[in-house]
Amino acid sequence: MIKIFVSPCLRGYNVKYNGKNNLNANLMLLLKQFDVKIYSLCPEVSGGLNIPRDPCEIKDNDVINNKGISCKREYEQGAKNALKLCQDENIKIAILKENSPSCGSNYIYDGNFNNKLIPGLGITANLFKQNNIKEFKEKQLELIKDEIKKIEKLK
Ligand code: SF4
Repeated sequence: MIKIFVSPCLRGYNVKYNGKNNLNANLMLLLKQFDVKIYSLCPEVSGGLNIPRDPCEIKDNDVINNKGISCKREYEQGAKNALKLCQDENIKIAILKENSPSCGSNYIYDGNFNNKLIPGLGITANLFKQNNIKEFKEKQLELIKDEIKKIEKLK
């Protein structure tokens, strides 16, 4: 059995800032084909933020919401909680929601709340990377499939 961390909003849990989710049915169907155990934790909620909450973006080494209030402490605490889950469970792979200030592993919004994406890492994705957890974004279905097959062969 392969253990995988998946952003819970991708599984359909309503943990997004607006109380909704980012269900990726294709991803979930793919994972069902394999002997995987999925672990999830929303870093923002785990770090102490509410559902719903004001949207945040990363700017100048801070994480600010759209009212200008810093939520960096909550984001960092949530990232630590997610990493602890992965370390406790020996999870080496994460499938993360792209563009999120927590989970984005390639792109994040630019910090000006104008819908503009820039290359960058969310707070949790960055901590995962520093701790050698292999990250995939939710749309990389072929890469995810190949990775699971590769690990299965090694077992
Ligand atoms: Fe989804 Fe991550 Fe945002 Fe939580 S912090 S809603 S898991 S993208």
